[in-house]
Amino acid sequence: MSFIITSAHIFTGDPDRPRAEAVAVEGGRIAAVGDNPEIERLRRPGWTAYDLPGRLVTPGLVDSHCHFVYYGLFRHVVSLRGLTSLAACRERIRTAAAGLAPGDWLVGEGWDHYLWDDSAEPDRTDLDDVTPDNPTVMIRADGHTMWVNSRVLAWMGLDRSSPDPPGGRIERDAGTGEPGGLLRDAAFHPLRDQIHASFKDWKTAAAEAQESALRLGLTGVHSSEDWPRYQALAELEAEDRLQIRVHHLVRPEDFKQAPPDRLRSQAGSPRLWFSHVKLLADGSLGSGTALLHEPYADDPSGRGAPILDRDILETQIARFYELGWDIAVHAIGDRAVTNVLEAVAAARKRLGVRPGEKRDRIEHVQLFRPQDLALYRELGLVAAVQPVFMASDWRLAEKKWGPDRCRFAYAWKTLLSAGLPLQMGSDAPFDRIEPLAGLQAAVTRQDPRGLPEGGWFPDERLTLAQALRAYTAVPAWTSRKQELLGSVTPGKMADLTVFREDLFETPSERWPAVDVEMTVIDGEIVFQNSD
Ligand SMILES: [Zn+2]
Repeated sequence: MSFIITSAHIFTGDPDRPRAEAVAVEGGRIAAVGDNPEIERLRRPGWTAYDLPGRLVTPGLVDSHCHFVYYGLFRHVVSLRGLTSLAACRERIRTAAAGLAPGDWLVGEGWDHYLWDDSAEPDRTDLDDVTPDNPTVMIRADGHTMWVNSRVLAWMGLDRSSPDPPGGRIERDAGTGEPGGLLRDAAFHPLRDQIHASFKDWKTAAAEAQESALRLGLTGVHSSEDWPRYQALAELEAEDRLQIRVHHLVRPEDFKQAPPDRLRSQAGSPRLWFSHVKLLADGSLGSGTALLHEPYADDPSGRGAPILDRDILETQIARFYELGWDIAVHAIGDRAVTNVLEAVAAARKRLGVRPGEKRDRIEHVQLFRPQDLALYRELGLVAAVQPVFMASDWRLAEKKWGPDRCRFAYAWKTLLSAGLPLQMGSDAPFDRIEPLAGLQAAVTRQDPRGLPEGGWFPDERLTLAQALRAYTAVPAWTSRKQELLGSVTPGKMADLTVFREDLFETPSERWPAVDVEMTVIDGEIVFQNSD
C-alpha cells in the first residue's frame, strides 16, 4: 500500500534530517521525507493522503526487552498484580481454585509483598488452606520467585534433605528446615514444563500479545523465550499472521531442543529473526537475589546470588561466540555487571574477537559501579534498560541498596554520557509494556503518581529525543537491522508510530492518556484508531 502523511511533526531519528512534516510511503518502504509541497508533489493516483496536523510521527517503536508470548498468556492467568495485602491475594486465589477440578494445576502471577501491609513474604501455608486440592504456583511480579503450596513441593519431591540447586535457592522454614514454599530462580526450573503443560494455546497467546502491542504503537519487540514459545511465533509467521517484528533471543537450553539448522545466528526473516543468545548472571532486586559487591542495606549477611558465576559466564560466552552468536546477559546487581564485563573481555581476548564485531548487550544494568564504565565502553556493550522498573521500584531500591549506592541505580544519563548505546524495553509481562509509560519514566524519573516530586536522582532524566532513540535506532542496530529499521529515512522499511498528540508539546504527565493514532509496519497500517 502507498500513501502520504502530511502536516505532522515527524521525529525521523535520521541525523541528516531530524525533523520533517511529511513522508511518502511506497511498496513498504519510506519513499521520501520532506515538507508538505515536496511530498504532495510525489503523490500518485490511488495513493491515500493522511493529513495529520498536531500528530507526532516517530520511527516504529520497539520494546527491546520483553517476553512476548508470555505477555499474551499472562493476560489470562490469575493476576495478583497491584494487590495490597496477602489477604486480597488469597481471596483471588481461592476464587480461581473454585472453578477447577481437583488435581488441576493453578497458576498465577504478579504478587509483590513489598506492596503488602507488613512486607512479609508468604509461604506454603498461605496457599494450602485456600487450594487444598490443586497444585498451586504463583509467580512473583519480577518472575524470579515462585510461591508454591505443599502439593507442588511434594510433586517435586522436595524435602528437608534436598540441596539448593546451582543458581537457585529453596527457602526453608526457620525451625525445621523443611522447604517453606518459596523457590528462587533455578530452584523452580523443574516446574516450568509442568506449568507450560497447564496452559493451552500458545499461538493464541502470541496473537493476543501482538494485537495489544500494535494498539500501543509497537512495531517490534526483542523477546526472549524458550523454543516452544518461539515456535508459536514461527507458526504465526508461516500462516502469514505475524505482523509485529520479533527479534527473538534464544536460550542455551534451546540448543538441545531445536533442529540445528534452524538455530543459526542471524537466521530468520525481517519479521522474525535471531542474533543473540541470552544468559543470566544473577536474580532480581525484589527477590533479593541481584548480585552485589557490598551487602544489601536491609540484610547485611546477603549479597545476592549468581545464576552463572564469572567463570561459567566466560565459558558460555566463548562457546556461543564460536558458534557465531552475539550475547545478551541479564545482570541487575553491580557485581553481576562487573562479572559480565570481565567475562566478555576474557572470552573476546581468548578468541581474538575484533572490536566492533559483536552487538553484545547487558539486560537491566539496574545498579553499576562508576569505575566499571570505562571497560563497559571499551567493550562497546549495549545497556538494555527498563525505565518502568525505576518507576515501580525506586522505594525498594533505596531500602535494599541504600541511598548512596542508588546514585548509580537506573542511571541512564550516566550510561549514555559514558558513550554506551542505550536501548529501552519493559520486561513485560513483568512490568507495563506501554511504551508511553517507559518514555514518561525515562524523562521524569517519577512513578505514575508523579513521585518522587522533581524525579528520583533527577540528573539522570533523559530528553524525549534521547528516550525515543532508545526505542528506535539503538534496538535496530543491536538486532543488526540498522540498514532497514530504526529511522524514517528514504529506502528503509516503512515502520511508523503515529501519536494523536505531539509529545514534544504535551506535558509528560499527560502522555499515558495520549492515543496511538496509527501503527504502520512495512507500509501496512496494522492498527488505526477509529475513536
Ligand atoms: Zn526479562
